[in-house]
Amino acid sequence: MDMRAEGTPVENGQAAFRDALIAAGLLIPTGVDGLYGRSGVFEDVVERFNDLITTWGGDDGADVMRFPPGVARHQFEQSGYLKSFPHLAGTVHAFKGDERAHQSLLRRLEEGEEWTDSQMATNVVLTPAACYPVYPTIAERGPLSADGALVDVYSYCFRHEPSLDPARMQLFRMREYVRVGTPEQVMDFRQRWVERGRALMESLALPVAVDLANDPFFGRAGRMLAASQRDQGLKFELLIPIASADQPTACLSFNYHQDHFGLLWDLRTPDGAVAHTACVGFGMERVALALFRHHGLDVKAWPAAVRAVMWG
Ligand code: ATP
Ligand code: ZN
Ligand code: MG
Repeated sequence: MDMRAEGTPVENGQAAFRDALIAAGLLIPTGVDGLYGRSGVFEDVVERFNDLITTWGGDDGADVMRFPPGVARHQFEQSGYLKSFPHLAGTVHAFKGDERAHQSLLRRLEEGEEWTDSQMATNVVLTPAACYPVYPTIAERGPLSADGALVDVYSYCFRHEPSLDPARMQLFRMREYVRVGTPEQVMDFRQRWVERGRALMESLALPVAVDLANDPFFGRAGRMLAASQRDQGLKFELLIPIASADQPTACLSFNYHQDHFGLLWDLRTPDGAVAHTACVGFGMERVALALFRHHGLDVKAWPAAVRAVMWG
């Protein structure tokens, strides 16, 4: 089911696929780009895929941690996120006024005036990537054992990147495995997951390509960071065409942070060296969308082999 007419601009293809997903009831629109509800069928696909990740990664003995979709503001501030991605961050603000301020808020709301400027920052920031709460948690435990650490996390994440592309949401789920240890341990982990991730996605009969990538670092200095990230081969993505054949979408990411988080959080290996870190991230909605794009919007009509992998 190719929604793209020849020569159609990418944005049209994306909007057409979004409309088809909404018409099929899989995504529930809210009137805000990138903010959707999901149907039971969509959620079932996400849950089955989530279990599949555990099937492929569960034997490694990862420590399971589940955090709500917010990080502590002090941890967020220390994480360096605002240096690199100020444009994507979402802070949680709340009303902290007295009764007079409440009356003023209601009056402005009634009159269609700006009311949010009196909201005050809370100590919660929306989680930008599922692995963010892991590093300070591991740091709290003191020096690593010789095996290092391996953590399994799963969280809703927020990024302020409203888009008509249904694969670019503002609130989406990311399942991650995070490795902390020596450079060798961390590189081994990433290499294993590049291969596993490819095999996992191919078991679902999806067309995949793995390619070098970079993060969308902010500003002019950010362009240099992005170039150096590429030169050093620090980020790979597993790409699948979703709404556009020429611009496939990153569904899995394999990131090597070198000693970036180790230095920030003072993570140490037993010999006192700064630990290195890496993570593999699965974009859960993107994988579901890739399955709908390639196997059709009706899960009952998916190829039997794919249904067998998903539903046993
Ligand atoms: P992109 O280049 O498409 O913006 P990214 O490099 O920002 O992706 P990561 O920061 O590596 O992605 O996030 C890990 C995974 O989370 C991605 O591989 C992708 O599957 C998913 N993801 C990232 N941003 C979004 C989004 N806005 N909506 C849905 N899924 C996303
Ligand atoms: Zn991560
Ligand atoms: Mg991005």
